[in-house]
Amino acid sequence: MRGLLIGRFQPFHLGHIYVIKEIAKEVDEIIIGIGSAQKSHSLENPFTAGERLMMISRSLYENGIHKNYYIIPINDIDNNSLWVSHVKSLTPPFDKVYSGNPLVKRLFKEAGKEVATPPLFNRREYSGTEIRRRMLEGEPWEELVPKAVVKVIEEVRGVERLRDLAKKDVL
Ligand code: NAD
Repeated sequence: MRGLLIGRFQPFHLGHIYVIKEIAKEVDEIIIGIGSAQKSHSLENPFTAGERLMMISRSLYENGIHKNYYIIPINDIDNNSLWVSHVKSLTPPFDKVYSGNPLVKRLFKEAGKEVATPPLFNRREYSGTEIRRRMLEGEPWEELVPKAVVKVIEEVRGVERLRDLAKKDVL
């Protein structure tokens, strides 16, 4: 049995680790799709697909999650009704989709896929929006992500990047 989890992972955080641990209890292999793979260097999507891939693979290793997994970047397409076929064309076959995102759930259900909603884990803090807000405001964010993610973000000077992106033009 193979399960699919798709997210933007901007950045990958402890809520995502929790979900993957839950999924790992019921599947043999996990496909992790990095959504909006083409997006980076924006306030909503600061990290590249490659950086997010490093965050995920190092965090799974660090957390002792040695299940077979595939990490696959998936570009967005400008056509929601074709998106499931697009995802299927890039991933190994899968039996079940795990998502809390209403659009993702709807599109896979309409395509006849089994969809499960994993329970939310401290959603107020374990949220990409909250983590990016803290980075911009200079508040502590490191406790909300796996240690490996702190290292990747330091390595690519992610906080500096985000703050630069928030600057206004000075004419
Ligand atoms: P996300 O990174 O916000 O979340 C990923 C998953 O983790 C979600 O299922 C979410 O419910 C879960 N999660 C997040 N925080 C959690 C917490 N604290 N506890 C437990 N679970 C938690 O990503 P997303 O917004 O769901 O990503 C969907 C991706 O699919 C996006 O990249 C989107 O662009 C893409 N998409 C593209 C198209 C298209 O191209 N037409 C259509 C639909 C979706």
